[in-house]
Amino acid sequence: MEKADVIIIGAGIIGTCIARFLAKYKLNIVLVEKEADVGFGTSKANSGVIHAGFHDKPGTLKADLCVAGNSMFDKLCKELNVPFKRCGALLIALKDEELGILEELKIQGEKNEVPGLKIIKGSYLFQLEPNLTKKAKAALYSPTVGIAPPYELTIALAENARQNGIRILLNTEVKNITSQGDGTKIVETQKNLIFANYIINAAGLFADEIARMAKDKFTFTPRKGEEYILDKKEKGLVRHVIFPIPKKETKGVLIIPTVDGNIMIGPTSEIVDNKFDLSTTRGGLQMILEKVKKLVPAINGKDIIASFAGLRATSKNGDFIIQPSNKIKGFINVAGIDSPGLTAAPAIAKMVIDILKEEGLRLVQREEYQPYRRLIKFQELSLEQKNRLIKEDKRYGNVVCRCENVTEGEIVDAIRRGARTLDSLKFRTRVGMGRCQGGFCTPKVMKIMEDELNIPLEKITKRGGKSNILWGKSK
Ligand SMILES: Cc1cc2nc3c(=O)[nH]c(=O)nc-3n(C[C@H](O)[C@H](O)[C@H](O)COP(=O)(O)OP(=O)(O)OC[C@H]3O[C@@H](n4cnc5c(N)ncnc54)[C@H](O)[C@@H]3O)c2cc1C
Repeated sequence: MEKADVIIIGAGIIGTCIARFLAKYKLNIVLVEKEADVGFGTSKANSGVIHAGFHDKPGTLKADLCVAGNSMFDKLCKELNVPFKRCGALLIALKDEELGILEELKIQGEKNEVPGLKIIKGSYLFQLEPNLTKKAKAALYSPTVGIAPPYELTIALAENARQNGIRILLNTEVKNITSQGDGTKIVETQKNLIFANYIINAAGLFADEIARMAKDKFTFTPRKGEEYILDKKEKGLVRHVIFPIPKKETKGVLIIPTVDGNIMIGPTSEIVDNKFDLSTTRGGLQMILEKVKKLVPAINGKDIIASFAGLRATSKNGDFIIQPSNKIKGFINVAGIDSPGLTAAPAIAKMVIDILKEEGLRLVQREEYQPYRRLIKFQELSLEQKNRLIKEDKRYGNVVCRCENVTEGEIVDAIRRGARTLDSLKFRTRVGMGRCQGGFCTPKVMKIMEDELNIPLEKITKRGGKSNILWGKSK
């Protein structure tokens, strides 16, 4: 039996951000996650765009929290040592009849207090983005749009929360919730019972099921988005995030210059009835290629090195659901967090803390709170510093992943920071994320895991559960 002041269910970007923001206070907090690592839900599978807020209807939670969240990213990413670049965005009109839509989006953005929006036309547009189709008539320029690696940010939030005393229980699925007369709530997982005064439901696509355990009711529509990543040789093809004219349900298919130097194209937007459907499809790819080539004709499908899909939890009215339950006091739903949930995450965390205060949680600052994540990034060291580190530990001189230049020392460090699966190592170090997609380095990485964790190779999984790579010896 465990006790906590606050239990957070779900360690995606929302749950980890709330945990990290609550770590400032003298509280006993448990973050519970059913998967083998943090960020293994929708938070690892999105476009990584830090939106400005001009897409969202004024007066909605999405509009307010997107703009507020965007403005918090510089400080947050600096503290957590996560790359973040305000590359800006261009939303392109290809037809004269679309020019009015640019004006409307500009007005909408200004109502939402998005800074710096401008309509750009003529040669300046092509100076900003030389590979843009010459058919482009004009663009809405938005300087505050940024890019960040969503999985790395989720991991960093969790690591910093843990450094500040938050307990994170992985492979721990919440099965039931009950409430006692004195207000204590009992969260039942497959491993233990946790008693708490406050529960935050940040279970992403499964937040409706967690809410039902607390007798609350809402539903989502899962909306799948497929994304495709181009080889790094295409780096520089675009400098800004390129948006098309949006549709009612979606921002459309984007061209994204990621912080890691790859170009990413996507996502699709397809309603599915299966919360586990993460397939990528020929039809999705064809549709994406057709759309992005209209904006940047030089994009070539042959340069695609990887694909993935994520599922958005789209609520009935399309807005975020962030409110205390009227069934159980101290139970707070943070649900329906589809796009721009990554962007809004820090502002959502702040809002949840205000709700907890209103619900009676006493917040006293911890003097020893440390906002900075302790981490040495080998790739960012100077040549001199790298040489010094290699002298201290020769594993930093052994390059394991030649596509992404990842060393054995970095892999061992990531394991010591908590990585227990191949995907956990990939998201912490980029091992296996290059052109060969782990074709050459996976056996070497598994050997390092075998030695460091003292487990047999057959026990190593891609992402926990039954995703084993090897099942036994053939000879
Ligand atoms: C294709 C795509 C592109 C997107 N692009 C962007 C973008 O560019 N910018 C942006 O701002 N937003 C974007 N989004 C939206 C963004 O990804 C989401 O808003 C965000 O990731 C939601 O985070 P979350 O923490 O709510 O959900 P999740 O990351 O899914 O986290 C919920 C966690 O709860 C866990 N969980 C569920 N049930 C239980 C249980 N019973 N017990 C314990 N744990 C449980 C899950 O395993 C999961 O880890 C995009 C989304 C998609 C799908």
